[in-house]
Amino acid sequence: MKKLLDKLKSEKVIKSDLVYNAMLKVDRGDFTNSYPYYDSPQRIGFNATISAPHMHAYALEYLAPYCSEKIHILDVGSGSGYLTAALSKMINDTGVVVGIEHIDDLYKKSIENISKHHKNLLDNKKVILINNDGREGVKDYAPYKIIHVGAAAETIPQHLIDQLDKNGRMFIPVGKANEDQWIYLVDKDEKGEINKQKIMCVSYVPLTDKKKQLKGY
Ligand code: SAH
Repeated sequence: MKKLLDKLKSEKVIKSDLVYNAMLKVDRGDFTNSYPYYDSPQRIGFNATISAPHMHAYALEYLAPYCSEKIHILDVGSGSGYLTAALSKMINDTGVVVGIEHIDDLYKKSIENISKHHKNLLDNKKVILINNDGREGVKDYAPYKIIHVGAAAETIPQHLIDQLDKNGRMFIPVGKANEDQWIYLVDKDEKGEINKQKIMCVSYVPLTDKKKQLKGY
């Protein structure tokens, strides 16, 4: 894991110690058996992937300025659970990170994955995993200072904008499957006003219905 992170650091993808240390604490080998230390996405079944380490690193770098102890974070499309656990490490296991995943088996697997070395996060409710449609967000723990979306939405779901806290940031890929998708940073200011920035072209699996995903979209 360290070699992979040192490579991402030399490529200037990882810039901060906060991100480096958070990713170092969460071993990608616990979340996929196939080439965990290669910088590429890997299939985790059900037409989903664990994102490439450089994408996890970019997401964490863009979210790092919004991290502070005791905040609430939402991870939509938590998949393998890797980033959900890493987000908890970004805030020193203090606040609450809610991961929401709609495929039952991936949700179950993510609990197993996180339990390998970070069972305390689940036991102490620092990480809460939910099996549901993430486009609705999770009202019970809202508002969130940080929302990370791990699947591409055709449009930014209004529920997620509503559940974003003031002075908070959402990182979300937007665009149709098989077309250009862009990461948007959606920032909500003190007054509740929204500012969107389009930052980079990416390729994510779609944020969609369970049935469509299981059929291959
Ligand atoms: N960050 C995760 C990304 C997994 S891929 C990781 O690196 O492991 C995207 C995930 O979003 C998939 O697991 C997929 O099942 C999930 N997903 C897609 N649409 C969803 C929806 N409407 N609600 C919840 N999860 C969804």
